[in-house]
Amino acid sequence: MTKPVILTGIRANNDLHIGNYFGAMLPIIDMAKRRSEEFDVNLFIPDLHSFTTPINHNELFDSIMNNARVYTAAGLPLDNPAIHLYRQSYVPAHSELTVLLNNFTGFGEMARMTQFKDKSAKLGDNQISVGLFDYPVLMASDILLYNTTYVPVGDDQTQHLEITRDLAERINNRFGDIFTVPASVKDQHAFFGKEQGLRIKDLVDPSKKMSKSDETGKGVIFLNDDPELARKKIMSATTDNKASVNYDKETQPGITNLIDILALLRGMDPHDVAAEYQGMERYGDFKKIVADEIVGFLTDFQERLKNVDDSQVLAKLESSERAMNEVANTTLFRIQKAIGLRK
Ligand code: ATP
Ligand code: MG
Repeated sequence: MTKPVILTGIRANNDLHIGNYFGAMLPIIDMAKRRSEEFDVNLFIPDLHSFTTPINHNELFDSIMNNARVYTAAGLPLDNPAIHLYRQSYVPAHSELTVLLNNFTGFGEMARMTQFKDKSAKLGDNQISVGLFDYPVLMASDILLYNTTYVPVGDDQTQHLEITRDLAERINNRFGDIFTVPASVKDQHAFFGKEQGLRIKDLVDPSKKMSKSDETGKGVIFLNDDPELARKKIMSATTDNKASVNYDKETQPGITNLIDILALLRGMDPHDVAAEYQGMERYGDFKKIVADEIVGFLTDFQERLKNVDDSQVLAKLESSERAMNEVANTTLFRIQKAIGLRK
């Protein structure tokens, strides 16, 4: 590959929700379409990252395929040769490079990762795996194998990008020019702009973000929710006792979240939506408007998803995986040679 590379992935550990869709998938697809002239765009399904936290393994294979189908239903152009859609575990070099990089990574460095501290704090002692601990090194491999320059990183991932850069520089300093060092966090932000900032909140507890791995799912609208169930979730969303629709994240986070959701569904600016319903007193009326819109969106999306041609998706995955194995193995060979495993 001669063009610079943009790389991004969404974990397939559960059903996707509207936060993933509007906050990640749509911006990714939009970015891929806009940038694919100048860049190779690697969209991968990090299936090896799926079980760093406990999951239902019986559902994993289907969720991986579903992830690819959702991208397609959301408008990813499968016929664009500069956009690569692939499953991490179908490119074995990811695992191989992780094993190698592990030996150049300090235990102390990894123990400082706040994601690990946060995620492990929520798990029982016997659920905290070495896989969870090591996940940033696998992520570094995901990035370095493809000579990636740009990776959209949320706040929770900036430390992992920094460790990736450290590892690349460490190896390059010692063994010569092996890896492309990805752009700094600051340059990533400048490159991707503000589009990554959006966060849909949980409907029951609007102080936290909507999240796939939420235990009850009551505050989460999944893309495959029955539309009428989604309506109920909206109608019982937590609000406040101010009896006035206003856009104010601080004092009215629940209502503000509903305004944000409505704005996304309508493709409008939230402030314009807020202006339209400013001061409306009956939250039930406002919720009904949001609920109707959600029902319409889900009905339409689920229809599109049903019509996705599975054989086309599989063909795209397989052709991308062939191409990606070639690139990844070339990088892998460079480091294998440098560290003495190959002649
Ligand atoms: P998990 O609970 O497994 O961490 P998640 O719902 O947080 O799941 P991720 O797989 O961590 O989802 O993130 C996938 C992508 O979706 C990321 O780009 C992330 O920024 C985006 N995303 C996740 N939750 C939201 C949300 N509530 N609003 C907007 N974007 C979101
Ligand atoms: Mg998450």
